[in-house]
Amino acid sequence: MSRFWSPIVKDLVPYVPGEQPKLSKLTKLNTNENPYGPSPKVLEAIKSESNDALRLYPDPNSDVLKNTIANYHNVNVEQVFVGNGSDEVLAHIFHGLFQHGKPLLFPDITYSFYPVYCSLYQIPFEAIPLDESFQVRIEEYRGINGGIIFPNPNAPTGSFLALAEIERLLAVNNETVVVIDEAYVDFGGETAISLVDRYPNLLVTQTLSKSRSLAGLRVGYAVGHPDLIEALERIKNSFNSYPLDRLAQAGAVASFEDQEYFEQTCHSVIAEREEMVQRLGAMDFQVLPSKANFVFCRHRSREALALAEGLREDGVIVRHFDKPRINQYLRITVGRPEDNEVLFASLQRLL
Ligand code: PMP
Repeated sequence: MSRFWSPIVKDLVPYVPGEQPKLSKLTKLNTNENPYGPSPKVLEAIKSESNDALRLYPDPNSDVLKNTIANYHNVNVEQVFVGNGSDEVLAHIFHGLFQHGKPLLFPDITYSFYPVYCSLYQIPFEAIPLDESFQVRIEEYRGINGGIIFPNPNAPTGSFLALAEIERLLAVNNETVVVIDEAYVDFGGETAISLVDRYPNLLVTQTLSKSRSLAGLRVGYAVGHPDLIEALERIKNSFNSYPLDRLAQAGAVASFEDQEYFEQTCHSVIAEREEMVQRLGAMDFQVLPSKANFVFCRHRSREALALAEGLREDGVIVRHFDKPRINQYLRITVGRPEDNEVLFASLQRLL
């Protein structure tokens, strides 16, 4: 038990699961999937889960996967929580680790699921404006709060805060939980997992959906102090236990075992992103610096919505947000070189 637990978590009597012995044609650039697909070893591992294995329930604790993640990040297994995508991990965090009497702080342009979770769990929040260059202003996350969360790199902007900035925040905010959502960290960011041993109020979430190209498998995780992880386990086990299924556990483990493929594909995405930034700039787009697998950009003279619609006519789907301040921007996922050729051919036609 820790002082960061909410009263709901403290009083929770979790469900204890029974023991389970120890598995188009369109150019789609709108939801930040990875175009390369997972390591071939993932599918091999999934296929080797036999009919007989599938007959049985999965390990409710995902022990093998948790150990794999702990080894990968050089932390203890008690510091790892896994869920069906980082969205589920985040849902559990919102459910039980933020204090309700004070506002949760997050940027006013960020992952749009955060306010949704706030309303679901009745958490008051304060959205703090990004600065003129769309950067998170760390010094504004210091007041009284019920917790702090932001993605690093941020979404949908792609901008990245150095680890020293995260540490600056943790140095002055040790009373409430700070969550760094690192869904896109492998495309050039730096993980804050190295700080979890020093800051018991820090939780870092990551996902296999982006850099490991497993959005369809639904695997995400959190790393932090064992007390925070225990809170998440209590919440999970109070939902009639949502373990990862056998195929997800087996596939996720195999993904971590193919480091070479992971590095190669991340490298390809980063190289293609830099190429896109150059080419968009040459076409009179203003492009925000990105450390993610997408770019956020606005054309200096053309309407974003009209461009998005024109691209769609050519079979290219990008993301346009109908929101104040960013409604002239497009978020474009980095595809393979051939996807990006289709994108640029269409832009050439439209501009
Ligand atoms: N955090 C951020 C910032 C995201 O953009 C996403 C993906 N939309 C997620 C978390 C959730 O990803 P997943 O549930 O696939 O792990």
